[in-house]
Amino acid sequence: MKKLLIANWKMKPKTLKEAIVLAKLSDDKDIYLAPPYIFLQSIKNVLKKATIGAQDLFQENPPKGGAFTGAVSAAMLKSIGIGFVILGHSERRALGETDVIISKKIAIACESKITPVLCVGESEGIRKKGIEEAMRFVAEQIKNDVSSIPKTVKKMIVAYEPIWAIGTGNNDTPESASQMARHIKKILSDQYSIKAKVLYGGSVNSKNISEFAKESDIDGFLVGGASADPKEFKTIIKIIKSI
Ligand code: PEP
Repeated sequence: MKKLLIANWKMKPKTLKEAIVLAKLSDDKDIYLAPPYIFLQSIKNVLKKATIGAQDLFQENPPKGGAFTGAVSAAMLKSIGIGFVILGHSERRALGETDVIISKKIAIACESKITPVLCVGESEGIRKKGIEEAMRFVAEQIKNDVSSIPKTVKKMIVAYEPIWAIGTGNNDTPESASQMARHIKKILSDQYSIKAKVLYGGSVNSKNISEFAKESDIDGFLVGGASADPKEFKTIIKIIKSI
């Protein structure tokens, strides 16, 4: 089965010039790129094969826009052809984004026909209490984050990203990431009749991706740091395409 590869550039690279170089190098079929907002339109213009997405959207989407300084709405993203949006990333949750806000964003993305990529994952403290505790935490996050999802939504992408694995070089094991992927799929299928693709994210690189890719319940990857490193991401794409 083909694995999905989503690149979360976070707040990188520093200049539009560098962003365009990175985008051209990453431009391949089945690759999803999520650059910073400011580069979206320019990168969209140079991409030939990859799908472009945003790293966030605002939780209000009034028909005629609104007084929300600094915010970017789903309608704006849709108007420039944005196909997906990363929501609930732990780095945004750490900035104060709550499950209530995330659930509004998920609903707006779905209503706007932008595919949400919902990020969930436990802290190190929770994981230290054992995988069952982590599974309970993730189940609760999903319940809260999809609480406003339209009933018509039957498919979804979830990224399981344990917080302690993000940007630390300390990745989860393929076995427990796979166990969590099964758990997430079962919750969404049993309780919401949603068929989910589950990605793993957390210090994925060209050295460890092949082991994760052997797990049939892991449908792909959300790659942060390594996706903004041109040489490293090119190698990752090559590995994924050879599977
Ligand atoms: C991420 O930002 O979603 C992520 C998984 O980061 P990294 O790959 O750097 O751990």
